[in-house]
Amino acid sequence: MRFRAFASLIAPLLAAGAVAGPADARPPKPEPAARAPEPPAEEAAPAHAPKLVVAIAVDQFSADLFAQYRQHYTGGFAKLLSGAVFPSAFQSHSGTETCPGHSTMLTGVHPSRNGIIANNWFDPDSPRPDKQIYCVEDENDPASSAKNPVVSPRHLLVPTLGEYVKKAYPGSRNVAVSAKDRTVVMMGGHAIDEGYWYLGGQFTTFKGKTLSPAAQAENEAIGKVIHDGAPPYDSPEWCGPRTMPLNVGEAGTIGIYRYALGPDLPDSFRVSPRMDAATLDLATRLVDQDKLGQGPATDVLSVSLSATDYIGHGYGPQGLEMCIQQAELDRNLGAFFEHLDKLGIDYVVELTADHGGIDAPERLQIQGYPQAQRADAALSPQVLGDALAKQLGITDKGPLLFGEGVSGDIYISHALSREQHDQVLAALVQKLKAHKQVEAVFTAPEIAAIPVAQGNPQDWSILQRVRASYYPGRSGDLVVVLKRGVQTTPVPKSGGVTGHGTVWDYDRRVPLLFWRKGLAGFEQPAPVETVDIAPSLAAVLGLKLPAGTFDGRCLDIDGGPDDSCAAQ
Ligand code: ZN
Repeated sequence: MRFRAFASLIAPLLAAGAVAGPADARPPKPEPAARAPEPPAEEAAPAHAPKLVVAIAVDQFSADLFAQYRQHYTGGFAKLLSGAVFPSAFQSHSGTETCPGHSTMLTGVHPSRNGIIANNWFDPDSPRPDKQIYCVEDENDPASSAKNPVVSPRHLLVPTLGEYVKKAYPGSRNVAVSAKDRTVVMMGGHAIDEGYWYLGGQFTTFKGKTLSPAAQAENEAIGKVIHDGAPPYDSPEWCGPRTMPLNVGEAGTIGIYRYALGPDLPDSFRVSPRMDAATLDLATRLVDQDKLGQGPATDVLSVSLSATDYIGHGYGPQGLEMCIQQAELDRNLGAFFEHLDKLGIDYVVELTADHGGIDAPERLQIQGYPQAQRADAALSPQVLGDALAKQLGITDKGPLLFGEGVSGDIYISHALSREQHDQVLAALVQKLKAHKQVEAVFTAPEIAAIPVAQGNPQDWSILQRVRASYYPGRSGDLVVVLKRGVQTTPVPKSGGVTGHGTVWDYDRRVPLLFWRKGLAGFEQPAPVETVDIAPSLAAVLGLKLPAGTFDGRCLDIDGGPDDSCAAQ
């Protein structure tokens, strides 16, 4: 087994550390290694357990998009709609970004426990000038930078479902594919047998690993498309109403693009339905190559589809571009499921999203949401820090503040004296609270003082949402919450027309779908959480894990009298 060598490299990591501590524990430095709790030894999965878990994430697939397009699905989504449908699942936390969103799905715990508070956080003690740390980098590797990371799972403080399954059934394979490195790592975890993501026109893998023949074949296939270019997609009839040119400044015209691909443009390939098609194609090749779902032990295949996110950012979620993407995604998912069906594999599918999104304010303003607006660029930590340096006369200490974007965590420089730190914090809070786009400002002690919430995530207070994204040692000195409808991208740029990451439900609410052959389907509109996914799948697989392993609860995904949680 060519991949066994890699698994044995990380096995000592899994074995060495203590179990990740409770939510409120201060993280010691160095960070605790993740470790799967010891389940009772079993030889093989229970006879009724599916042979393959297919965990799918559709990046930026908001509950709103699902509601808008579900009437048109005839492919893969139509199949999933015949299963267990939870139209209102929540990424309950405030930091609604890709890395945290994917971190909740298969760990079953909030970022406040798995440590993945953002795509990037800041370590004021880092020797790097920008203090920035990427969620899946090994910053101790001298070759790594936040922009060009050496990809590593070291920041994820808990195991994933694939790791729990491997521990219970050692023959199990844990495989993950996506366009994004961070989603591969967050869904796969520490013990990934094969993991691939897209970089500059090719799928690539972890440092020190080689591409399997399946990945090489997929690279050859996409290389040909990228070299030759490709014609535009046809627009389904039902995309007519979404087709309307809209000028968004520097970003040009959105609302009319059908993805004609010029030759040698790997980035245009990425921001198109072709990226998801390639990702699913690679997943299909890996099923065949590794005979996933065809061995004695249950395998876990994680697939994160990034095109919806790239297209959402580049063109907003309400134009022709997203409409075509929805049609293509549905079709490509259908082809993928058809392949699994043809092989006769007994598989369970789970599909959800890492976060949602909201459309460009320029379009929202003419479509019934006049309050929508872009955030003031002066809310960026850099601009705020420069203003405070002048105001307080602290001009000899370098940048006063670190942080990314115009909302979320802000970190105060450690170059300051205690007195200066307190001065800066007080002035910053005052300045932010006076800003008309700011909904709330919370300091770290205010956030840490409350417990992580339970119960209906729709009803959580803003502070409770922020608490679920808070991890001491990684979170900022302060968290800024912008008002509802304030777009976090201050200036639209090519590829960056809209953003996400807020506490509001258009960013938090996502669909959650389960399907398995023979399972009685149903729709349950009551809110559930993405941290419920791992315990729900663990129960279907008959995994017995210690109480308290998950923040979420088991959802009975069998609409009939049988209870899929009964095994727990
Ligand atoms: Zn995302």
